[in-house]
Formats: sequence, structure tokens, C-alpha cells
Amino acid sequence: MQRLEGKIALITGAARGIGAAIAKTFCQNGATVILTDILDVEGEKQRLVCGPTAAYQHLDVRLEDDWKRVTSAVVAEHGGLDILVNNAGITGYVESSGPHDPENLDMASWQAVHDVNLTGVALGCKYAIKAMKGRGGSIVNISSRSGMVGIPGAAAYASSKAAVRNHTKSVALHCAERSMGIRCNSLHPAAILTPMWDPMLGEGEARKQAIATIEKDIPLGYIGAPEDVAFAALYLASDEARYITGVELNVDGGILAGSAARPD
Ligand code: NAD
Repeated sequence: MQRLEGKIALITGAARGIGAAIAKTFCQNGATVILTDILDVEGEKQRLVCGPTAAYQHLDVRLEDDWKRVTSAVVAEHGGLDILVNNAGITGYVESSGPHDPENLDMASWQAVHDVNLTGVALGCKYAIKAMKGRGGSIVNISSRSGMVGIPGAAAYASSKAAVRNHTKSVALHCAERSMGIRCNSLHPAAILTPMWDPMLGEGEARKQAIATIEKDIPLGYIGAPEDVAFAALYLASDEARYITGVELNVDGGILAGSAARPD
């Protein structure tokens, strides 16, 4: 018996990085997966990587009409939805001009980051609850280590991820109090090597050096892979986590277990 046998799963931002790894892992575990993204060419490629139980749909998480269209199509074809992974997210470093520090904030950049990272998640939860009604389900929101601690150079990113952490709990309680059988949890990755890091790492020798510097601050000693997040999402999405809702699960190599200036 595969862990997601018979489940219908929708994943946002699934064209690359963590979302692509989640899509592949879910397919390998028996789910029918609807990959979604705004990068349609890459999304179609990932659909092929995932195999015959995968489909691809264009879905810009910022747009309510996109959510209506895609979730209606999923319900029409499959009778409902069992799993949503709200994975799409941006730092704002390439998608907006910045600056992103609290003193010099560019407000258009602030808004652009919140539109994707927070409004996108809120819309996803809204339409997933409708599509899961009467059958139950699991919503996994990809927050971040940056939702737990301050990030002065990426204030909008950190603010939006902290809000995702909190909204997850509102969704979890809303659904639990109405006996909907819908769970909602947040994952908090940190330092996972994906295309999101490319603008920050540079290329060639500089990239190697930058990764080595990051790895010095990771207790487990190495940067994470997208699959590390995918396996955590697999657990929360599966019925093995049926008694778990409203929790935060860090996937961070131990980063958040410690603090600076500790007495040793
Ligand atoms: P990535 O940039 O490699 O992938 C993000 C995907 O989201 C892309 O395919 C992109 O096209 C898609 N996307 C962006 N805007 C969208 C929109 N408006 N609608 C739909 N899709 C959109 O990044 P990643 O590292 O794979 O990140 C995935 C998630 O994990 C994000 O929410 C990110 O904040 C979170 N995260 C990543 C890390 C890390 O170290 N990589 C750490 C913490 C949290």
C-alpha cells in the first residue's frame, strides 16, 4: 500500500525546486498530482518527470479567478481534492526592485512579496477547503525559517512567511471546529538548494564558497535538498498524520534548534 494511494493532490509552484520534488514524491507514493505554476514550459517538463498520474495546470496563486478555474476543474474531473501544498513563494530579490530592509522598504516590493507568499496561500486554503468539503483532506503550507526569526535584508519575505505560519493555525482551527476532517500544517524549510538561491550564490568558485559559508552555520553540516522537504510534506499529507493539525515542522538541518552567543 503506497502512502498516498488514491489521493488527489494539487501543488503550487511545482515547476521546479521544492514543489517539483514534492510532486515527484507524491506521484511515487500513489497520488494523482496536479502540478501548477506560472512557468508553463518547466511545469510541463516536470509533469513528464512525474509520470502518467500527473497533470499540469497554469495557476498564478495571486489570482482568485485562477484558483476558481483550477479547483473547479479538479472537482469536476476527480470529485474533489484531498491534498493541497501551498508551495509557491518568492523572495522578491528578482521579482521586485527592493530595497527590502525595514528602513528603506520599497512598498511595491513589499506588496509583491505578500501577494504571492501570503495572499496566494490564503486563496489556496479558501478554495482547498471548498474542494475538500465532505471528504476531508490535508493542507500543507510551505512557510520558512524566515517565518520564525527576523531577516533584516528580506523583511517582506520574513513578514509574509510569519503570517503563513499564523494563518495555518486559523485554518486548522476553523476546519477542526466544524469537524471537516481537514488538517492544516506548516513546514519551515531553511537552506534548501533550489533555483531560489541562485541569485544569492553566484556562479562557479564563488558559488562553492558561498555554499561552504552557509554550511558552517548548519548544525548537520550540509545544505538541504528539495527531497528533504518533500518527505516531510509526504508525512503531513498522508493519513499517518491524521491527529496532527496546526503544527510547525522545521526542515532546517538544526538551524532553529540553537542560538547565537550561547554560553559554551
Ligand atoms: P523556487 O524559486 O525554486 O521555486 C518557486 C516556484 O514558485 C517557481 O517554480 C515559481 O515559478 C513559482 N511561483 C512564483 N510565483 C508564483 C505565482 N505567482 N504563482 C504560482 N507559482 C509561482 O523556490 P523553492 O526554493 O523551491 O521554494 C519553494 C517554497 O519553499 C517557497 O515558498 C519558499 O519560500 C520556500 N522556502 C524555500 C527555502 C529554500 O531554502 N529553498 C527555505 C525556506 C522556504
